[in-house]
Amino acid sequence: MPNFKDLFEQYSWEEVKASIFAKTALDVEAALANPDRTLEDFKALISPAAIPYLEQMAQKSHELTLQRFGNTMQLFAPMYLSNECQNICTYCGFSLDNKIKRKTLNDIEIAREVQAIKKLGFDHVLLVTGEANQTVGVGYLEHAIGKIRPHFANVSMEVQPLDQADYERLIPMGLHAVLVYQETYHEADYKKHHPKGKKSNFQYRLETPDRLGRAGIHKMGLGTLIGLEDWRVDSFFTALHLDYLERTYWQTKYSLSFPRLRPFSGGLEPKVAMNDKELVQLICAYRLFNQEVELSLSTRETNTFRNHVIKLGITTMSAGSKTNPGGYDVDPQSLEQFEISDERSPQEIKEMLQANSYEPVWKDWDVALESLG
Ligand code: SF4
Repeated sequence: MPNFKDLFEQYSWEEVKASIFAKTALDVEAALANPDRTLEDFKALISPAAIPYLEQMAQKSHELTLQRFGNTMQLFAPMYLSNECQNICTYCGFSLDNKIKRKTLNDIEIAREVQAIKKLGFDHVLLVTGEANQTVGVGYLEHAIGKIRPHFANVSMEVQPLDQADYERLIPMGLHAVLVYQETYHEADYKKHHPKGKKSNFQYRLETPDRLGRAGIHKMGLGTLIGLEDWRVDSFFTALHLDYLERTYWQTKYSLSFPRLRPFSGGLEPKVAMNDKELVQLICAYRLFNQEVELSLSTRETNTFRNHVIKLGITTMSAGSKTNPGGYDVDPQSLEQFEISDERSPQEIKEMLQANSYEPVWKDWDVALESLG
Protein backbone atom coordinates (compact mmCIF):
# COMPACT_ATOMS: atom_id res chain seq x y z
CA MET A 1 0.00 0.00 0.00
CA PRO A 2 1.55 3.40 -0.92
CA ASN A 3 2.46 5.54 2.07
CA PHE A 4 4.05 9.00 2.19
CA LYS A 5 5.92 7.98 5.34
CA ASP A 6 8.30 5.80 3.28
CA LEU A 7 9.27 8.77 1.10
CA PHE A 8 9.38 11.21 4.03
CA GLU A 9 11.87 9.02 5.91
CA GLN A 10 14.37 9.33 3.07
CA TYR A 11 14.81 13.05 3.85
CA SER A 12 16.68 14.77 6.64
CA TRP A 13 15.36 18.10 7.93
CA GLU A 14 18.87 19.56 8.32
CA GLU A 15 20.00 18.51 4.84
CA VAL A 16 16.89 19.99 3.23
CA LYS A 17 17.45 23.22 5.15
CA ALA A 18 21.12 23.44 4.12
CA SER A 19 20.23 22.78 0.50
CA ILE A 20 17.54 25.54 0.47
CA PHE A 21 19.92 28.07 1.99
CA ALA A 22 22.67 27.10 -0.50
CA LYS A 23 20.55 28.06 -3.53
CA THR A 24 21.98 30.91 -5.61
CA ALA A 25 20.68 33.55 -8.01
CA LEU A 26 21.59 31.21 -10.89
CA ASP A 27 19.40 28.45 -9.39
CA VAL A 28 16.51 30.93 -9.09
CA GLU A 29 16.91 32.04 -12.70
CA ALA A 30 16.98 28.40 -13.86
CA ALA A 31 13.81 27.71 -11.82
CA LEU A 32 12.05 30.72 -13.35
CA ALA A 33 13.00 29.59 -16.87
CA ASN A 34 11.88 25.97 -16.39
CA PRO A 35 8.19 25.50 -17.30
CA ASP A 36 8.08 22.06 -15.57
CA ARG A 37 9.43 23.06 -12.22
CA THR A 38 10.91 20.39 -9.98
CA LEU A 39 11.22 20.17 -6.21
CA GLU A 40 14.78 21.50 -6.56
CA ASP A 41 13.34 24.51 -8.43
CA PHE A 42 10.82 24.96 -5.63
CA LYS A 43 13.66 25.05 -3.10
CA ALA A 44 15.33 27.81 -5.13
CA LEU A 45 12.09 29.83 -5.28
CA ILE A 46 11.58 29.75 -1.50
CA SER A 47 15.26 30.45 -0.75
CA PRO A 48 16.60 33.83 0.40
CA ALA A 49 18.30 34.06 -3.04
CA ALA A 50 14.86 34.47 -4.67
CA ILE A 51 13.91 37.67 -2.79
CA PRO A 52 15.33 40.01 -5.53
CA TYR A 53 13.19 38.12 -8.09
CA LEU A 54 9.89 38.63 -6.27
CA GLU A 55 8.46 40.95 -8.90
CA GLN A 56 9.10 38.40 -11.68
CA MET A 57 7.71 35.58 -9.56
CA ALA A 58 4.56 37.61 -8.84
CA GLN A 59 4.04 38.37 -12.52
CA LYS A 60 4.37 34.74 -13.58
CA SER A 61 2.24 33.53 -10.70
CA HIS A 62 -0.53 35.97 -11.63
CA GLU A 63 -0.49 34.82 -15.28
CA LEU A 64 -0.56 31.11 -14.42
CA THR A 65 -3.43 31.56 -11.96
CA LEU A 66 -5.43 33.56 -14.48
CA GLN A 67 -4.91 30.88 -17.16
CA ARG A 68 -6.08 28.07 -14.90
CA PHE A 69 -8.72 29.71 -12.68
CA GLY A 70 -9.79 32.87 -14.51
CA ASN A 71 -10.89 35.97 -12.57
CA THR A 72 -12.77 33.99 -9.92
CA MET A 73 -12.40 33.74 -6.18
CA GLN A 74 -14.16 31.03 -4.18
CA LEU A 75 -15.58 32.21 -0.87
CA PHE A 76 -16.41 30.00 2.10
CA ALA A 77 -17.34 30.39 5.76
CA PRO A 78 -15.95 28.27 8.59
CA MET A 79 -18.68 26.91 10.89
CA TYR A 80 -17.35 25.89 14.29
CA LEU A 81 -19.48 23.07 15.71
CA SER A 82 -17.55 22.53 18.93
CA ASN A 83 -14.60 23.77 20.98
CA GLU A 84 -14.31 20.60 23.08
CA CYS A 85 -10.86 19.08 22.76
CA GLN A 86 -8.86 16.30 24.46
CA ASN A 87 -5.54 17.49 23.05
CA ILE A 88 -2.98 19.92 24.31
CA CYS A 89 -1.65 22.03 21.44
CA THR A 90 0.62 24.88 22.50
CA TYR A 91 -0.75 27.30 19.88
CA CYS A 92 -4.53 26.87 20.17
CA GLY A 93 -7.20 28.58 22.25
CA PHE A 94 -9.21 25.32 22.47
CA SER A 95 -6.33 23.33 24.03
CA LEU A 96 -7.43 21.03 26.89
CA ASP A 97 -5.34 22.97 29.43
CA ASN A 98 -7.03 26.27 28.51
CA LYS A 99 -9.83 26.77 31.04
CA ILE A 100 -12.65 27.98 28.83
CA LYS A 101 -16.35 27.25 28.65
CA ARG A 102 -16.80 24.27 26.33
CA LYS A 103 -19.65 24.04 23.88
CA THR A 104 -20.90 21.67 21.18
CA LEU A 105 -23.81 22.78 19.01
CA ASN A 106 -27.04 20.74 19.22
CA ASP A 107 -29.48 20.32 16.32
CA ILE A 108 -31.42 23.51 17.05
CA GLU A 109 -28.21 25.53 17.33
CA ILE A 110 -26.84 24.00 14.12
CA ALA A 111 -30.03 25.04 12.32
CA ARG A 112 -29.66 28.62 13.62
CA GLU A 113 -26.03 28.84 12.51
CA VAL A 114 -26.92 27.39 9.09
CA GLN A 115 -29.57 30.07 8.59
CA ALA A 116 -27.20 32.86 9.68
CA ILE A 117 -24.45 31.66 7.30
CA LYS A 118 -26.91 31.22 4.42
CA LYS A 119 -28.16 34.77 4.99
CA LEU A 120 -24.60 36.04 4.44
CA GLY A 121 -24.71 34.51 0.95
CA PHE A 122 -22.46 31.44 1.36
CA ASP A 123 -23.07 28.13 -0.38
CA HIS A 124 -19.85 26.52 0.87
CA VAL A 125 -19.23 25.84 4.52
CA LEU A 126 -16.20 24.40 6.34
CA LEU A 127 -17.16 22.44 9.47
CA VAL A 128 -14.63 22.73 12.30
CA THR A 129 -14.39 20.93 15.64
CA GLY A 130 -11.74 20.15 18.23
CA GLU A 131 -10.81 16.53 18.91
CA ALA A 132 -13.11 14.96 21.51
CA ASN A 133 -14.26 11.47 20.63
CA GLN A 134 -16.97 11.30 23.29
CA THR A 135 -18.79 14.37 21.99
CA VAL A 136 -17.63 15.07 18.44
CA GLY A 137 -16.58 11.64 17.17
CA VAL A 138 -17.55 10.24 13.79
CA GLY A 139 -21.17 9.64 14.90
CA TYR A 140 -21.65 13.34 15.72
CA LEU A 141 -19.99 14.38 12.45
CA GLU A 142 -22.20 12.03 10.43
CA HIS A 143 -25.29 13.42 12.13
CA ALA A 144 -24.17 17.04 11.66
CA ILE A 145 -23.33 16.57 7.97
CA GLY A 146 -26.78 15.02 7.48
CA LYS A 147 -28.35 18.18 8.95
CA ILE A 148 -26.11 20.70 7.17
CA ARG A 149 -25.49 19.22 3.71
CA PRO A 150 -29.02 19.85 2.31
CA HIS A 151 -28.51 23.61 2.81
CA PHE A 152 -25.16 24.02 1.01
CA ALA A 153 -23.65 23.09 -2.36
CA ASN A 154 -20.39 22.15 -0.60
CA VAL A 155 -19.55 20.87 2.85
CA SER A 156 -15.88 20.59 3.79
CA MET A 157 -14.46 19.53 7.13
CA GLU A 158 -11.46 20.39 9.32
CA VAL A 159 -11.65 18.04 12.29
CA GLN A 160 -9.52 15.33 13.91
CA PRO A 161 -7.83 12.85 11.53
CA LEU A 162 -10.02 9.78 11.09
CA ASP A 163 -9.59 6.18 9.96
CA GLN A 164 -10.18 5.30 6.31
CA ALA A 165 -13.45 3.52 7.18
CA ASP A 166 -14.74 6.69 8.89
CA TYR A 167 -14.01 8.77 5.79
CA GLU A 168 -15.74 6.13 3.68
CA ARG A 169 -18.78 6.55 5.93
CA LEU A 170 -18.86 10.36 5.64
CA ILE A 171 -18.07 10.86 1.93
CA PRO A 172 -21.38 9.38 0.67
CA MET A 173 -23.20 11.85 2.97
CA GLY A 174 -21.91 14.66 0.76
CA LEU A 175 -18.58 15.44 2.43
CA HIS A 176 -16.70 17.20 -0.36
CA ALA A 177 -13.28 18.08 1.05
CA VAL A 178 -11.18 17.46 4.15
CA LEU A 179 -8.44 19.78 5.40
CA VAL A 180 -5.77 18.22 7.55
CA TYR A 181 -2.72 20.30 8.34
CA GLN A 182 0.47 18.62 9.45
CA GLU A 183 1.28 21.76 11.56
CA THR A 184 5.02 20.97 11.22
CA TYR A 185 7.00 18.20 9.53
CA HIS A 186 9.72 18.58 12.18
CA GLU A 187 8.99 15.46 14.20
CA ALA A 188 10.77 16.44 17.44
CA ASP A 189 9.19 19.91 17.48
CA TYR A 190 5.82 18.44 16.56
CA LYS A 191 6.03 16.40 19.77
CA LYS A 192 6.84 19.52 21.82
CA HIS A 193 3.78 21.34 20.47
CA HIS A 194 1.46 18.34 20.90
CA PRO A 195 2.40 16.88 24.28
CA LYS A 196 -0.95 15.23 25.12
CA GLY A 197 -3.83 13.56 23.33
CA LYS A 198 -4.27 11.65 20.09
CA LYS A 199 -2.77 14.48 18.09
CA SER A 200 0.63 13.76 19.65
CA ASN A 201 0.89 10.80 17.24
CA PHE A 202 2.98 12.36 14.45
CA GLN A 203 2.84 9.28 12.19
CA TYR A 204 -0.95 8.93 12.33
CA ARG A 205 -1.35 12.54 11.24
CA LEU A 206 1.31 12.22 8.54
CA GLU A 207 -0.53 9.23 7.05
CA THR A 208 -3.97 10.90 7.09
CA PRO A 209 -3.82 12.19 3.48
CA ASP A 210 -3.06 8.61 2.37
CA ARG A 211 -6.16 7.36 4.21
CA LEU A 212 -8.21 10.15 2.61
CA GLY A 213 -6.83 9.33 -0.84
CA ARG A 214 -7.66 5.65 -0.41
CA ALA A 215 -11.18 6.56 0.76
CA GLY A 216 -11.65 8.51 -2.49
CA ILE A 217 -12.16 12.04 -1.13
CA HIS A 218 -12.92 14.63 -3.82
CA LYS A 219 -10.50 17.22 -2.44
CA MET A 220 -8.01 17.51 0.41
CA GLY A 221 -6.20 20.46 1.90
CA LEU A 222 -2.63 20.44 3.23
CA GLY A 223 -0.50 22.96 5.04
CA THR A 224 1.64 23.75 8.05
CA LEU A 225 1.25 26.30 10.80
CA ILE A 226 3.80 28.94 9.93
CA GLY A 227 5.75 30.06 12.96
CA LEU A 228 6.25 26.69 14.66
CA GLU A 229 9.43 25.87 12.73
CA ASP A 230 11.50 27.14 9.78
CA TRP A 231 8.80 27.96 7.22
CA ARG A 232 11.04 27.20 4.25
CA VAL A 233 11.75 23.63 5.30
CA ASP A 234 8.12 23.01 6.31
CA SER A 235 6.97 24.36 2.94
CA PHE A 236 9.39 22.08 1.10
CA PHE A 237 7.91 19.06 2.89
CA THR A 238 4.40 20.32 2.07
CA ALA A 239 5.36 20.51 -1.62
CA LEU A 240 6.92 17.03 -1.42
CA HIS A 241 3.73 15.69 0.18
CA LEU A 242 1.54 17.37 -2.45
CA ASP A 243 3.68 16.02 -5.28
CA TYR A 244 3.50 12.48 -3.87
CA LEU A 245 -0.28 12.66 -3.32
CA GLU A 246 -1.00 14.01 -6.80
CA ARG A 247 0.93 11.16 -8.36
CA THR A 248 -0.63 8.53 -6.07
CA TYR A 249 -4.27 9.71 -5.86
CA TRP A 250 -4.57 11.54 -9.13
CA GLN A 251 -8.36 11.74 -9.09
CA THR A 252 -8.33 13.86 -5.92
CA LYS A 253 -7.95 17.64 -6.09
CA TYR A 254 -5.72 19.55 -3.70
CA SER A 255 -5.55 22.86 -1.89
CA LEU A 256 -2.84 24.47 0.20
CA SER A 257 -3.09 26.91 3.10
CA PHE A 258 -0.34 28.84 4.83
CA PRO A 259 -1.75 30.05 8.15
CA ARG A 260 0.57 32.22 10.21
CA LEU A 261 0.42 31.81 13.98
CA ARG A 262 -2.13 34.29 15.37
CA PRO A 263 -2.64 35.59 18.90
CA PHE A 264 -5.16 33.73 21.06
CA SER A 265 -6.11 33.57 24.72
CA GLY A 266 -2.93 32.38 26.56
CA GLY A 267 -0.94 32.41 23.30
CA LEU A 268 2.40 31.25 21.93
CA GLU A 269 4.89 33.55 20.20
CA PRO A 270 6.12 32.34 16.76
CA LYS A 271 9.54 30.66 16.94
CA VAL A 272 10.29 31.71 13.37
CA ALA A 273 8.49 34.84 12.19
CA MET A 274 7.57 35.16 8.52
CA ASN A 275 7.14 38.68 7.17
CA ASP A 276 4.64 39.73 4.49
CA LYS A 277 7.24 39.72 1.73
CA GLU A 278 8.17 36.13 2.56
CA LEU A 279 4.52 35.05 2.53
CA VAL A 280 4.16 36.60 -0.95
CA GLN A 281 7.28 34.67 -1.97
CA LEU A 282 5.79 31.42 -0.70
CA ILE A 283 2.42 31.96 -2.42
CA CYS A 284 4.17 32.63 -5.74
CA ALA A 285 6.55 29.69 -5.29
CA TYR A 286 3.64 27.29 -4.70
CA ARG A 287 1.89 28.57 -7.83
CA LEU A 288 5.03 28.36 -9.98
CA PHE A 289 5.60 24.82 -8.73
CA ASN A 290 2.01 23.66 -9.23
CA GLN A 291 -0.51 25.26 -11.57
CA GLU A 292 -3.46 23.08 -10.53
CA VAL A 293 -3.41 23.44 -6.77
CA GLU A 294 -5.86 25.79 -5.09
CA LEU A 295 -4.30 28.33 -2.74
CA SER A 296 -6.40 29.43 0.19
CA LEU A 297 -6.02 32.55 2.33
CA SER A 298 -7.89 33.01 5.59
CA THR A 299 -9.06 35.99 7.62
CA ARG A 300 -6.00 35.53 9.82
CA GLU A 301 -4.34 37.95 7.41
CA THR A 302 -5.02 41.70 7.44
CA ASN A 303 -7.32 43.56 5.03
CA THR A 304 -4.38 45.27 3.36
CA PHE A 305 -2.43 42.08 2.86
CA ARG A 306 -5.46 40.19 1.53
CA ASN A 307 -6.25 43.03 -0.88
CA HIS A 308 -2.70 42.96 -2.22
CA VAL A 309 -2.26 39.22 -2.72
CA ILE A 310 -5.54 38.27 -4.38
CA LYS A 311 -3.94 38.72 -7.78
CA LEU A 312 -0.84 36.68 -7.04
CA GLY A 313 -2.16 33.15 -7.02
CA ILE A 314 -4.89 32.89 -4.40
CA THR A 315 -8.04 31.05 -5.49
CA THR A 316 -10.01 30.67 -2.26
CA MET A 317 -10.77 32.96 0.68
CA SER A 318 -12.79 32.78 3.85
CA ALA A 319 -14.84 35.88 4.65
CA GLY A 320 -16.74 37.25 7.63
CA SER A 321 -15.34 34.33 9.65
CA LYS A 322 -16.28 33.42 13.19
CA THR A 323 -13.89 31.02 14.91
CA ASN A 324 -16.09 30.15 17.88
CA PRO A 325 -18.94 27.62 18.09
CA GLY A 326 -22.21 29.46 17.62
CA GLY A 327 -20.31 32.57 16.52
CA TYR A 328 -22.75 33.65 13.78
CA ASP A 329 -25.94 33.62 15.84
CA VAL A 330 -26.16 31.29 18.86
CA ASP A 331 -23.34 32.61 21.05
CA PRO A 332 -21.28 35.35 19.38
CA GLN A 333 -19.36 36.05 22.62
CA SER A 334 -17.89 32.55 23.18
CA LEU A 335 -14.10 32.24 23.05
CA GLU A 336 -12.53 32.22 19.57
CA GLN A 337 -9.94 29.65 18.47
CA PHE A 338 -7.77 32.54 17.32
CA GLU A 339 -8.29 36.23 16.59
CA ILE A 340 -9.06 37.08 13.02
CA SER A 341 -7.50 40.14 11.35
CA ASP A 342 -9.73 40.82 8.39
CA GLU A 343 -13.09 41.60 9.99
CA ARG A 344 -14.85 42.81 6.83
CA SER A 345 -18.28 41.39 6.08
CA PRO A 346 -18.79 39.00 3.13
CA GLN A 347 -20.52 41.90 1.32
CA GLU A 348 -17.44 44.11 1.75
CA ILE A 349 -15.18 41.28 0.51
CA LYS A 350 -17.45 40.85 -2.49
CA GLU A 351 -17.19 44.57 -3.28
CA MET A 352 -13.40 44.53 -2.90
CA LEU A 353 -13.15 41.56 -5.29
CA GLN A 354 -15.42 43.18 -7.85
CA ALA A 355 -13.45 46.43 -7.65
CA ASN A 356 -10.41 44.31 -8.61
CA SER A 357 -12.33 42.68 -11.51
CA TYR A 358 -12.74 39.37 -9.69
CA GLU A 359 -15.97 37.43 -9.61
CA PRO A 360 -16.84 36.00 -6.18
CA VAL A 361 -18.00 32.37 -6.35
CA TRP A 362 -19.97 31.33 -3.29
CA LYS A 363 -19.45 27.59 -3.69
CA ASP A 364 -16.51 25.37 -4.60
CA TRP A 365 -15.66 26.41 -8.10
CA ASP A 366 -15.51 22.97 -9.74
CA VAL A 367 -19.03 22.26 -8.45
CA ALA A 368 -20.03 25.74 -9.69
CA LEU A 369 -18.72 24.83 -13.16
CA GLU A 370 -20.49 21.43 -13.12
CA SER A 371 -23.82 23.17 -12.46
CA LEU A 372 -23.22 25.44 -15.47
CA GLY A 373 -22.53 22.43 -17.75
S1 SF4 B 1 -5.48 22.67 17.29
FE1 SF4 B 1 -7.22 21.29 17.15
S2 SF4 B 1 -6.57 19.50 18.30
FE2 SF4 B 1 -5.22 21.16 18.93
S3 SF4 B 1 -6.18 22.05 20.75
FE3 SF4 B 1 -6.89 23.19 18.96
S4 SF4 B 1 -8.81 22.24 18.42
FE4 SF4 B 1 -7.71 20.80 19.74
